[in-house]
Amino acid sequence: MINSERLTATFLELARINSPGRHEAVVANAIEARLKALGFETRRDGVGQIIGGETGNIIAHRPGASPAPPIFLNAHMDTVQPTPNINIVIEDGVIRTDGTTILGADDKAGVACILEALESSLEDGVALPDVDVVITAAEEIGLLGARYFDPAEVVARSGWVVDGGQPLGYIGVGAPSQNTMKTNITGKAAHAGTSPEHGISAIRVAAEAIANMPHGRIDPETTANVGVITGGQATNIVAPSCEVKAEARSQNLDSLERQTETMLNAFREAGERHGAIVDIDVERVYEAFTVPGDSREVTIASESMTNLGITPEPRRSGGGSDANYFNAKGIRCVILGCGYEDIHTTAERIAIGDMTMGARILEGVLRIAGR
Ligand SMILES: [Zn+2]
Repeated sequence: MINSERLTATFLELARINSPGRHEAVVANAIEARLKALGFETRRDGVGQIIGGETGNIIAHRPGASPAPPIFLNAHMDTVQPTPNINIVIEDGVIRTDGTTILGADDKAGVACILEALESSLEDGVALPDVDVVITAAEEIGLLGARYFDPAEVVARSGWVVDGGQPLGYIGVGAPSQNTMKTNITGKAAHAGTSPEHGISAIRVAAEAIANMPHGRIDPETTANVGVITGGQATNIVAPSCEVKAEARSQNLDSLERQTETMLNAFREAGERHGAIVDIDVERVYEAFTVPGDSREVTIASESMTNLGITPEPRRSGGGSDANYFNAKGIRCVILGCGYEDIHTTAERIAIGDMTMGARILEGVLRIAGR
């Protein structure tokens, strides 16, 4: 049976450890020790070296008593910032901070739910299948742990990513692809008062390009945003350079390519009109995925939720997560919630009751998967 007090203690232990992306050594040691105590064989993969981080992903395997297909469980161990001197407050059954830092329930609540669901299942003698647990590093700084993860590290090809908030019935069955675009515009400096005709304003080029591109919600599946613009030195200098950072995302790869091309053309055309040099770097940050509604991952999660009186709510998300990379690498997985709220803000919090229900859902998933 899920032990809410033990779950809370696990969560608090992890949440008190400062662990922004690339600085997860201490939290990784704590998580790895817990997995070892549960009978897992553990190691770190080489991703830490690739990304210049303190640790790679934690890869843990435990052979099971059930012949059912092996299962994959994932959560990430890094958090967004600010985190130093995290001061946790528990009030009316809700865990939060004093308001000066984030809490890091995203995704330490996910890690804690995985540990508790496993421990509880083992205590109860549940016949688990082979279990692969992958706790990723550097999720919040570009999904780096999952991005460089080698699927040959694990045997399971089906599972659950515990990195969702509310509602607890959420089952993340899909997510968009995303392209990021970094555009450097090089114009020509000139004195803005005495000889503006000798200059080429990179800011003007950027402004024309941005004004000419479709922006915001493009269609029901596609969005685009210019998020950062920097450039220029002083009002009396025609701006010689300007940098623009933008993104497009879509559930549909064709729409994504079309939108991206439209945005790039707007920059190219504006550059040509003014004789500026336009240098564009496009990166596919992650690939879209779709897990069918009748898949094992969705039906098992739905059954577990229904048993607990929770209505399953399978839906696509608007953002990317480690699940995008795992699915792209052949490990089919959906995302489950663990109850956190207002993540990536200093108001981040989690109700102990919700986190406990998240662990119960996962415990049910493990039991059903072992049948
Ligand atoms: Zn997360």
